[in-house]
Amino acid sequence: MVRLKSYVAGAWFDGTGKPAQLVNPATEAVIAETSAEGIDHGAVLAHARQAGAVLRKQPWSARAAMIKGVQKLFHAHREELLDLAQINGGSTRGDAKFDVDGAIGTLGAYAAFGEVLATRIGDRPWLLDGELAQLTRAPRFGGQHVLLPRQGVAVHINAFNFPAWGTFEKAAVAWLAGAPIVTKPATATAQLTHRMTELLVESGLVPEGAFQLICGSTGDLLSRLGAQDSLAFTGSNATGAMLRNTPGFAERGVRVNVEADSLNAAVLGPDVEVGSELWNTAVRHVVTDMTQKAGQKCTAIRRVMVPDSLIAAFEESVVEGLSAITVGDPLVDGVGMGPVSTASQLRDVLSGIRQIAEHGRVVTGGPDRIDGKHAPEGKGYFVAPTVIRLASAAAGPVHDLEVFGPSVSLVPYDGSAEAGSAALARGQGSLMSTVYGDDRAWLGTMMLECAPWLGRMMLTSSKVADQVIAPGMVLPGCIHGGPGRAGGGEELGGERGLAFYMQRTALQGDRVILGKLLGIESA
Ligand code: NAP
Repeated sequence: MVRLKSYVAGAWFDGTGKPAQLVNPATEAVIAETSAEGIDHGAVLAHARQAGAVLRKQPWSARAAMIKGVQKLFHAHREELLDLAQINGGSTRGDAKFDVDGAIGTLGAYAAFGEVLATRIGDRPWLLDGELAQLTRAPRFGGQHVLLPRQGVAVHINAFNFPAWGTFEKAAVAWLAGAPIVTKPATATAQLTHRMTELLVESGLVPEGAFQLICGSTGDLLSRLGAQDSLAFTGSNATGAMLRNTPGFAERGVRVNVEADSLNAAVLGPDVEVGSELWNTAVRHVVTDMTQKAGQKCTAIRRVMVPDSLIAAFEESVVEGLSAITVGDPLVDGVGMGPVSTASQLRDVLSGIRQIAEHGRVVTGGPDRIDGKHAPEGKGYFVAPTVIRLASAAAGPVHDLEVFGPSVSLVPYDGSAEAGSAALARGQGSLMSTVYGDDRAWLGTMMLECAPWLGRMMLTSSKVADQVIAPGMVLPGCIHGGPGRAGGGEELGGERGLAFYMQRTALQGDRVILGKLLGIESA
C-alpha cells in the first residue's frame, strides 16, 4: 500500500492513528493511505519562519528564477503527473492537463511577472502604491503608500478538484511575495500534490522550509497562526465559514482569503440567433463546463438563463452537444467524462440534482448513479450529465444550491436585462458569469447590474465568439475570486495577488527623506 507522508520541518513524516484512504473513483480500488496525526505544528511554523527570512532577503529576480525553475521541473515530469491526476482524480487526459498544465502555466506566468518587477524596480523589496503626495499645507510633509512583505507564514488549504493548480497557483503568488508556505491538499486527491512535493524537495530548488506539505488533518496548526500569518482557503462555503471563525483569528487579526462555492451563470441575450456562431459558443461553453472534470470546477456554469422564446431550442442544442460525450473510465481512450472524485461527492451531487429536479423537468441524465463505460459493473462514482429545465426563475433552490458535478439548470426569463441580471444576482455572489449578446444597451445594463455580484464577467458578443476562452478557465493575469457566497476572496490578478502576502503601509514624513529612502526620483 502506498503511504503518503507529510513533508514537515525538513523531513518526511508518517502520521500515527487510523489512516484516511485514497481511491481510484472509477473503480473504487484503494490506491494510497495517509495520516498527519502527530505533527508538531509549532515546529512546522518555526521552520517556515526561518525560510521566510531567507526568501524575503532574495531579490525579485531570484524569486522569479526560483519559480521558473519549479515550472520547468514540473514540465519535465508532466507525463508522470498527468498519469497520477487521472488515477487519483477520475480525470480524463484533458481534465488532467487542465489541472497540471494550469499549475505549470501559472508558475510560468508568475515567474514572468517577477522578471518584469525586477526590471522595473530592481532589488528594492517594496512596491509603491500611488504617488508621493503633499498631505497638508506644509510643503515638506508628505505621504507615500508602500507594500512590504509580511513576516509570516502562508497556510494554504485546497479543495479536492485541483490538486496541482490549486496548490501551485497559490504557491506561485506567495513565493513571489516572499512568503513561506505550509500547504494542505484535500486528503482524497492528495497523491498528485504529494508527488509534486517529492519532486520539489529532491530538486532543492526552493529554500528548505519554504514549502511544507500536510497530507491529512491540520491538527492545531491554524490555532497557532499569528498577526503576520495568513490562511488562503479554497473549498466549500461551510468549511470556509468555519475556518474564518477559528478561535483567535479575529483577536490576532490573522488574514484570511476564502474561495468558496459559486453558482456561476450564463445569460443568453434575446438577440442571439439559434444556430449562429454566438449560439454555438454558448452551447459549447455549457457542455464543456458540465463535462470537464465531471463538472467539478468552481467556475463551471451552474445556471443558464435563457429567454422564454429560445429555451426549447437551447435545450435541444445542449442535449445534442452532450450526446457526443461518453461517460466511463477516464483511462480509456474515447471517454469524454470520468466519475466524480469521491463517494461523498457522488451522494451530494445526486442529492442536489434530486432537490433541483423537484422544481422542473429532467431533460437528460438524472439523480441516480450510472455504470461507467469500461468500468467494473456497480463500481465507480459515475453520474450522467444532467440538464434540468425549470418552470420559472423562482422555482426551487436553483440559486442557492451548488451541485458540484455534471449538472446544469436551464432557467427561463423574459429576455430583459433587468430580469436576467436579477436572476443572476440571486446567486448571492459568484466567481464568474458570462453574458451572450450583441445589443450594446442590453450588454451595458447587464454589466452595470451584474459586475458587482461577480469576480469575473465575460461579455461574449458575435465578433469575439470564436476568440473567447472557455469561461471556466482562470488566467493568472486576471483575478480569481468573487463576492458574497463565493467567499469574498481574491487570488491571482498578476501583481494584484501579491498584496495578500504584503502589508500596505502609509509612510508619512519629510518628503525629501521619504523620496530618498524609497528611491523616488521626482521627490
Ligand atoms: P471542503 O470539504 O470544504 O474541503 C476543502 C478543504 O478544506 C480540504 O482540503 C479539506 O481537507 C479542508 N478542511 C475541511 N475541514 C477542515 C478543518 N476543520 N480544518 C482544516 N481544513 C479543513 O471542500 P471540497 O469538497 O474539497 O471542495 C468542493 C468545494 O470547493 C465546492 O463547494 C467548490 O465550489 C469549492 N471550490 C471553490 C473554488 C474556488 O476557487 N472558489 C475552487 C475549487 C473548489 P480534507 O480533504 O482533509 O477534509
